[in-house]
Amino acid sequence: MAIILDGKKIRDNTREQLKVAFGKLPFKSKLVIIKVGEDAVQDVYVRQKKIFGDSIGVEVTVIGIPANSNEKEIIGVIEKENNDKNTHGIIVQLPLPKELDKLAIIEAINPEKDVDSLTSLNTKKLYLGFPKFIPATTKGILTLLDYYKIPIVGKRICVVGRSNLVGKPTAIAFVNKGATVTVCHSQTTNLPEETKRADILIVATGHPSLISKDYVSSGQVVIDVGLSRVKGKLVGDVVSDEVERMVFAITPVPGGVGPMTVASLFENLLISVSEEV
Ligand code: NAP
Repeated sequence: MAIILDGKKIRDNTREQLKVAFGKLPFKSKLVIIKVGEDAVQDVYVRQKKIFGDSIGVEVTVIGIPANSNEKEIIGVIEKENNDKNTHGIIVQLPLPKELDKLAIIEAINPEKDVDSLTSLNTKKLYLGFPKFIPATTKGILTLLDYYKIPIVGKRICVVGRSNLVGKPTAIAFVNKGATVTVCHSQTTNLPEETKRADILIVATGHPSLISKDYVSSGQVVIDVGLSRVKGKLVGDVVSDEVERMVFAITPVPGGVGPMTVASLFENLLISVSEEV
């Protein structure tokens, strides 16, 4: 059976370190989460961020905006937080309702407070190899692999998913670390052929049960980023019970990448805050 890569355990260690670090600051740090509309899965993420922030002495303010709001209204809220010196990090919970101009909204965030690292300036810095912040999910995956001493340099990585939030920044970060990366997506013609070749398979599609035993090979490390709610239960993109029997190591869902993402977000907040001290 595969080693289970326990994101909760690492998150809890990070929590203790962050609690001490934030506690040493001469002011209370604040993260603002802007949430547009309602979404059951997104609400899980927001709740986890709020609970984690509370537990390390960071103020987490969730600003709920109705789903029928326009870009101008949302950007107005972001600009107010950009100008508030007591706000150290701003994130817009994704995905946004489809009709909104997501890029314009993200771009309105002051890059210094962009702890999700999605603005063009921060994307460029990641691309060039000197990121101020690494996007939280990507950073969480890197930290998880580092904790379990799973090497990256020279390894073949397959990232399934090419979103700006997860797939692309993860691919770039692994290239920067010295891996050889293949990026797959819905137009990839022979997905199992690509996924089976990888040393580390990272799946971020939001397509439950996409990766069955026919997509993996023995000795692989499988990172399941996906999170969907199926019949009231949170599931990943990997059919874990059959894949677990074949691979070397795998992240559980829930309890793998999710907790790592939350902890990494607050590590980014600490970077943002530390520059003020
Ligand atoms: P997204 O923007 O919807 O992107 C999904 C990607 O998966 C797209 O690139 C899409 O390809 C690809 N894809 C979809 N179906 C596919 C298929 N059958 N075969 C191959 N590729 C396929 O989603 P996202 O924001 O990246 O999030 C992905 C998942 O990760 C979601 O379940 C989300 O909830 C989860 N997530 C988890 C965390 C965490 O902390 N655990 C954080 C962020 C996101 P195309 O580009 O061709 O459409």
